[in-house]
Amino acid sequence: MRQGDGLRGIVAVDGPAGTGKSTVTRRLAALLGARYLDTGAMYRAAALGVLRAGVDPAEPTAVSEVVARRHIEVGTDPATSRVLLDGEDVSREIRGPAVTTAVSPVSAVSPVRELLVAQQRRIISDVTAAGGGIVVEGRDIGTVVVPDAPLKVFLTATAAQRAARRAAQDGVDDVAEVRRAVERRDRSDSTRATSPMRAAADAVELDTTALDADAVLSRLHELAIARGLVVLVARGRT
Ligand code: C5P
Repeated sequence: MRQGDGLRGIVAVDGPAGTGKSTVTRRLAALLGARYLDTGAMYRAAALGVLRAGVDPAEPTAVSEVVARRHIEVGTDPATSRVLLDGEDVSREIRGPAVTTAVSPVSAVSPVRELLVAQQRRIISDVTAAGGGIVVEGRDIGTVVVPDAPLKVFLTATAAQRAARRAAQDGVDDVAEVRRAVERRDRSDSTRATSPMRAAADAVELDTTALDADAVLSRLHELAIARGLVVLVARGRT
């Protein structure tokens, strides 16, 4: 049996779009043989359910009724992390522009958040109860979902840098338009009444503007070691 670094407990990573959150959290989980939870993917699946039902994302009552009837499942394997909506794999469709526009108003609806936060806590406690580790990314992980997480990180970057990253990732040329969309979504996410995006008082804030993904990953890895969350574990088969 090989031995390697493993994660015990929860690493909570929050921050706005384009900070490199998804890339580095997924890589940290893979590096440590841990589970990974993309909570944004769950809100995106909910928004897709709303769009498919022909409901206006700006109508909170109708939105919460639709989402309560949908079944969202999210995988926690950092190598695949599939998202299912009523049993259908929607991992690709939730990344499209229609969902990206609808997701902020849908995620601002309190009953939607209550449902998804409860589901997220169940997924996290299943992993930790079995002695495992999980890296969780979102907007309210350190403040609401797991406020007692032993390591909370809040990633930031300038709006220009975040827009440039998003445009490159999505293969879009109009960086100015991407920047407007990213800023619109961040404004909505950080000013909503329920669980607005903000750094927890005890979060480590990390400005990623001048850092590449490798540098952010090493920083997160160092922080997890410093908090005593990285332990030597058996890996693979005998
Ligand atoms: O991380 P991602 O960009 O995929 O998140 C999509 C949207 O889901 C965010 O803009 C935000 O509106 C919502 N979200 C949230 N709370 C989370 C994760 C995402 O409200 N924990």
